[in-house]
Amino acid sequence: MAEQISIEDFQQQASRFLEQSTERRVEVRQVWGEGSDQVSLLPERTLEEELAEARAAKKWAQTRFDAGFGWITGPTEFGGRGLTRDHQRAYEALEAQFAVPPKTVYGIGLGMVAPTILAHATDEVKQRYLRSMWRGDIVACQLFSEPSAGSDLAGLQTRAVRDGDEWVVSGQKVWTSGAHLSDIGEILCRTDPDLPKHKGLTGFVVDMHAPGVDIRPLRQITGGASFNEVFFNDVHIPDSHRLGDVNGGWTVALTTLMNERAAIGGGMAGTSAGNMGTQRLIELVRHQGKSDDPLVRQQVADIVINGRVASYTTLRSMAKIAAGGLPGPEMSIAKLSLTLNMRRMADLLSHVLGPKLVADSGEWGTYAWSQFILGIPGMRVAGGTDEILHNIVGERVLGLPKEPSAN
Ligand SMILES: Cc1cc2nc3c(=O)[nH]c(=O)nc-3n(C[C@H](O)[C@H](O)[C@H](O)COP(=O)(O)OP(=O)(O)OC[C@H]3O[C@@H](n4cnc5c(N)ncnc54)[C@H](O)[C@@H]3O)c2cc1C
Repeated sequence: MAEQISIEDFQQQASRFLEQSTERRVEVRQVWGEGSDQVSLLPERTLEEELAEARAAKKWAQTRFDAGFGWITGPTEFGGRGLTRDHQRAYEALEAQFAVPPKTVYGIGLGMVAPTILAHATDEVKQRYLRSMWRGDIVACQLFSEPSAGSDLAGLQTRAVRDGDEWVVSGQKVWTSGAHLSDIGEILCRTDPDLPKHKGLTGFVVDMHAPGVDIRPLRQITGGASFNEVFFNDVHIPDSHRLGDVNGGWTVALTTLMNERAAIGGGMAGTSAGNMGTQRLIELVRHQGKSDDPLVRQQVADIVINGRVASYTTLRSMAKIAAGGLPGPEMSIAKLSLTLNMRRMADLLSHVLGPKLVADSGEWGTYAWSQFILGIPGMRVAGGTDEILHNIVGERVLGLPKEPSAN
């Protein structure tokens, strides 16, 4: 039975916990020329830095979970506290005032995989993994994309063949963010090649430490290596780890993808992809002596306005989800408006910085923007490419005729 606690009492409890367990966040006012000038969209860390960040995130996740603030809205039978989204929001607002480690390593697991497990897994799998995921004991990744199946996800070829109470998986996945840090993965496999492509797929939870799983890092253009290729060489998965029905994997995938767009939109709303970069950009224009240039002023105004519109659209769709609605096409509009604005920022940066964008002159806050620009194509692809989102908006919002499809 879920406990009854008012929001006010809950807030007091949470404040006490936070005050006792961590430090308040100190806002450092950014001064031009001081501190780090890094402005990148993708994490650019060495493996050692990633592992250190993951250790800090895990320690904090465990402390928070053990105090009752780890999975506030989760069902009590699987380790959650059974409280409301209002309690969750109240906690998040308080935690934002404290200097807690970034939760990047858990983003995909808790944002996409855990909701899919909750919706489609057997009770055995829910019992085995949900509490550990929310306590930060284990990390999860999403194993969907393949070398010939990204936008056309249903065309994937990784096979799972039934063998008694198990499935044997062989094939290759690609662009798997965080696979090298993960303990489990949500994998989508072809289980019946004779059925139409959307109908022959099945989802599973796979142990990333199982024999036959081979994880190889992929280096991104900006230097870091957050992605991987993952090869499955006759990897055995118990049937109890199946998600949903045999050949019902498309429904399972849609649950994950809807949560993915929500997680990306929500994550971007308050970050460099949203508004963080704008202030730095304005400072840059001033320091490059361009603030009286009417064309530059117009471009800056455009970016600020469109950045706000993008954030508000994201917040509007997040509010709909928070109120119990399903993520809809508005999430595609929100993501599209963010990436369109990043392109406006790239145009302005090229105009203002010229050669300083491509050659490191040593001047603070100039060449650093090249990392931001090189990250934009990735943002335009992750979680639905710009073109695919245009298709969604065209078909589902504007009611244009559907794209012709093979089946
Ligand atoms: C930062 C990042 C993180 C990622 N993390 C993961 C992860 O953790 N797990 C995972 O499984 N995958 C992940 N991916 C992969 C991502 O889901 C795919 O890259 C994406 O679905 C696009 O697939 P693709 O790369 O195969 O490109 P393709 O689908 O081959 O597209 C190539 C080009 O063709 C265009 N195109 C394709 N189809 C159409 C169409 N019907 N109409 C018009 N244009 C079209 C696309 O817009 C694009 O410009 C990640 C990608 C990025 C960039």
